[in-house]
Amino acid sequence: MKYMQREELVQRVCAGYCSFYKPEKTGELACNGFMLAQKLFGQYRDPGYEKGGERPGSTTEHALFRAVCRSCPFFENDCDFALWKRGGSPGSLRSDVHPCGGLLFLTDAVDRGRMDIQAIYRVI
Ligand code: SF4
Repeated sequence: MKYMQREELVQRVCAGYCSFYKPEKTGELACNGFMLAQKLFGQYRDPGYEKGGERPGSTTEHALFRAVCRSCPFFENDCDFALWKRGGSPGSLRSDVHPCGGLLFLTDAVDRGRMDIQAIYRVI
């Protein structure tokens, strides 16, 4: 069983999925999606898949928004996706706003059957 180290997880989750990722700022505060991915994949084994081409499904994304985003340090003021989900950017479409890489990574893991959503709920 292979456990993921933080730097490997940053490469997989943040560099691989996040449109807000800045390599020079990896030591700064992480979103809740990354922190949960770190709990799950730093603690358990590498899911062993690579990033897919399409944005994961909206049903899982919505379920994880409700569970993950509300306790994220960026929820109130610094996340356009969270603002849109709360109805704060009328006129914008889902395709206009992107969750962070952590939320996308977790959504992708659930949609591909690599992780049970209950496993995420258990570490929140
Ligand atoms: S999508 Fe936004 S609020 Fe949700 S975990 Fe990511 S940064 Fe935080």
